[in-house]
Amino acid sequence: MTRVFSPGSTIGILGGGQLGRMLALVARRMGYRVHTLSPEDDTPTGQIADLAVNARYDDLDAIRAFARRVDVITFEFENVSVEAARAAAEIVPVRPDGSALHVAQQRLREKEFLAARGFPVTAFAAVRSPEDLAAAVARLGCPAVLKTAAFGYDGKGQVRVDRPEDALPAWDTIGRHEAVLEAFVDLECEISVIAVRGLDRAFAHFGAIQNTHRHHILDISVAPAPIGPAVADRAVRIARDILEALDYVGVMGVEYFVSRDGRLLVNELAPRPHNSGHLTIDACRTSQFEQQLRAVCGLPLGSTDYLMPAAMANLLGDLWAQGEPDWAAACAVPEVRLHLYGKTEPRPGRKMGHLTALDRTGPAAVDRVLAARRALT
Ligand code: AMP
Repeated sequence: MTRVFSPGSTIGILGGGQLGRMLALVARRMGYRVHTLSPEDDTPTGQIADLAVNARYDDLDAIRAFARRVDVITFEFENVSVEAARAAAEIVPVRPDGSALHVAQQRLREKEFLAARGFPVTAFAAVRSPEDLAAAVARLGCPAVLKTAAFGYDGKGQVRVDRPEDALPAWDTIGRHEAVLEAFVDLECEISVIAVRGLDRAFAHFGAIQNTHRHHILDISVAPAPIGPAVADRAVRIARDILEALDYVGVMGVEYFVSRDGRLLVNELAPRPHNSGHLTIDACRTSQFEQQLRAVCGLPLGSTDYLMPAAMANLLGDLWAQGEPDWAAACAVPEVRLHLYGKTEPRPGRKMGHLTALDRTGPAAVDRVLAARRALT
C-alpha cells in the first residue's frame, strides 16, 4: 500500500514509551492526531496523544479495534508481536511492516538474515543444546559472549564466557533458553547509523554517531563520530543495503562494532528511532522522529544536515538517588537542552530523559553535556 497520509490524519503508535512520545510531539506539531496503545497508564506517549488505549499487545481484538480508529500504524518498540502487526495490517497500513519486526525481533534470526546476505557480523553460533554450546565454544574460542536469542534489551540476557568450562554455567544463568554464542570483539569503539527509507524509496541518514555505554546502557552519543571517513561511509553503505534488503519504510538504528583491527561489524538492528539519534532533535534540520513521521505517512524525507556537532547524555533514574535533580543548574549551561519523558518513577537504570549539547566540535559538545549532567546532582 502506498497511500500518503496528510496532516489531519491519525497516527496509531503501538507502545507508550519515550520513542513514541518524541514521535507524537512531532506529529502534533505537524497537525496529525495521535493514538497510542500500551498495557500501562499515564505513559510518556499517552501524555502527548489524543487518545491512549490501555490494552495488551497480544490482545488482537483490542489491536484491531485500535486500528479501526487510525489511518496508519507504527510501533515504537520491537517487542510488539508479529501477529499483532499482522492483525493491524489487515485494517490499515503498518510501517515499517511486520517482516522487518520479525527479523529484528530475534537475535539469531537477525544474525542469520545479515550473514546470509553477506553483511559483516561478529562470528556466531546458534545454541539450542549442550552439544551445540560445546561445539560453539570449540569453534569460536574464548572469550565469547553468550546472549539469549530472544532480545533482552540494554545488555540483559548476556553473559561473558572467559573459559570453556564457564560456558554451561553461563547458559544456566540465562535459563538455558535458545541462545547465540558470539566471538568477543576487541572494541575500538561502537557507532550507529540512523537510517531512513521513505515510501518513495528515498534514503537518508545522519552519518555515523559514536556511542559509549555504562553497564550495557547507552550513556553518551556524539555526532559526528570521531572516526575516519572511510569507516563512516562504509557504515552508511551497509545501512542503506540493509534497508533495501528489507524493503524497509521508516527509521532504523543500525548498531556497529568497530574492532581494534579495523573491522566494521553489524551488532544489532533497531526497527524504529534509536536512542543514539535523540541528538538529531536539536542538532539537525529534520530529526529522526520527523523522518519517521514523514516515512510512515509517505511524505518526502527532510534534510538531515547538522546545524552543529552535538552530544547527548542519557539521564537514568539513578540521578534521583539524592532527590530531585537540579534542573535549573543544567539549564544554566548555554546550548544545552533538557528532554524529560514524563515518567514519574525514577528507578535505577530507567531512561528518564536526556540532555543534548551543541558546540563547535564533537568533543566540546561532549564536555558541555557532561558538565550539564554533573550540575544536576
Ligand atoms: P548488545 O545487547 O548485543 O548490543 O550488547 C550490549 C553491549 O555489550 C554492546 O554494546 C557491547 O558494548 C557489549 N558487547 C556485546 N557483544 C559483544 C561482543 N561480541 N564483543 C564485545 N563486546 C560486546
